[in-house]
Amino acid sequence: MAIDLKIPATHAGDELRDSALRQLDSAAKALDLDPGMHKFLRVPERELIVSVPVMLEEGRMEVFTGYRVQHSTGRGPGKGGIRFHPNVTLSEVEGLAMLMTWKCAVTDLPLGGAKGGVAVDPRKLTRRQVERLTKRYTAGILPIIGPERDIPAPDVNTDESTMAWIVDTVTMITGEHSPAVVTGKPVELGGSRGRTEATGRGVAFVTLEVLKRAGKRPEDTRVAVQGFGNVGSITAKALAEAGCKIVAISDVSGGYAAPNGIDIPKAIEHVRNNKQRLLEGFPGLSKISNDELLAMEVDVLVPAALEGVITPSNAGSVRAKIVVEGANGPVTSEADRILTDRGVTIVPDILANAGGVVVSYFEWVQSRAGFYWELDEVERRLEIYMRRAMELVLATAKTYDSSLREAAFIVAVDRVARAIDRRGIFP
Ligand code: NAD
Repeated sequence: MAIDLKIPATHAGDELRDSALRQLDSAAKALDLDPGMHKFLRVPERELIVSVPVMLEEGRMEVFTGYRVQHSTGRGPGKGGIRFHPNVTLSEVEGLAMLMTWKCAVTDLPLGGAKGGVAVDPRKLTRRQVERLTKRYTAGILPIIGPERDIPAPDVNTDESTMAWIVDTVTMITGEHSPAVVTGKPVELGGSRGRTEATGRGVAFVTLEVLKRAGKRPEDTRVAVQGFGNVGSITAKALAEAGCKIVAISDVSGGYAAPNGIDIPKAIEHVRNNKQRLLEGFPGLSKISNDELLAMEVDVLVPAALEGVITPSNAGSVRAKIVVEGANGPVTSEADRILTDRGVTIVPDILANAGGVVVSYFEWVQSRAGFYWELDEVERRLEIYMRRAMELVLATAKTYDSSLREAAFIVAVDRVARAIDRRGIFP
């Protein structure tokens, strides 16, 4: 999977965490939250920083830094992905862990929020080296993960193979077959059917619901999708199947546009066959920049790459009336204000891309039960969870006369605070 090295992540990571905190603060205010509870929710429960030494080859050791942050386990074990990216920092992982708490709460999963990462550019390593890195990092964070403690999953630059290596490490160290320690595993190893497609399908589902409420037919809807990895490509495919016209897509190799719509299955096929898994060289499209894609005259814009791509400096040029956050934190909080003031509807990440964690939850349930569901069962239940969350957020936005983001945070913060309150503060 491709990565963009140009985004200055320390800045993007700090921004992501600070903006998650600002959203919490504003939900706390709307809910008139107890000041002590507010203080508790502002800080992660537990953080672990590990050094990850890897023997790259005989006699040459490199040392990377790994993180695992559990923001809240108030509603259940921590849940959240693991990211391999050179710009991973503690603040980025803290921000993403906090977003996971709200994401699990807004979809009403009995799980808390966590996140992990290693500051590494996996493209500079061989597959075997990445496997060794994954296994050593897993051994480092093993004291705090587990099916009843904290369950990792894939994120940027990690995938089902990474999860399989984690299962192997935990199984070897504990002597117990441990598929329930992660989600996003290969189906052969106890992964859930439909997990890979779940996030994109959920993004498409909420997009179609927003369009329906705006009285717009999919056939009359033009969509631009930034990022053509797991989330972006599946979202584009599902929206195209529903009748929308996908007029622009992009990845780190740039943007590609076609006013009459792009053949998405063909684009996916092209990426699959491309050595670097890129859109580069896909025939019949005009080449545009990623900035031009964000500013296109479309009805729906889906940023599905990395965080912090819509900022105050380019928010003014966004022309879409609906922005659906496929990625985590793609719109900075200042940009959010600019767009909201202009009447743009933003479907926030904690709702829009929650499909992945919903099916991760199903996978955790299946792995612990040792009983696996058929795909139609997974898809049916995913829709129930997404619809229920969407309807509650829309209703809350009406009650509080707020944006969808504020409403999603109000729902989530209220649920987490109530659960902690019912438990009482130990001891
Ligand atoms: P991925 O690695 O599969 O895909 C990322 C895509 O974005 C690639 O096509 C890459 O080339 C492109 N990209 C990177 N930087 C770009 C840039 N500056 N401009 C344009 N394109 C760029 O990752 P993914 O799993 O699809 O995740 C994407 C986002 O969605 C991340 O923010 C991730 O945290 C979030 N997310 C993923 C899941 C999931 O289930 N995979 C769930 C929830 C949220």
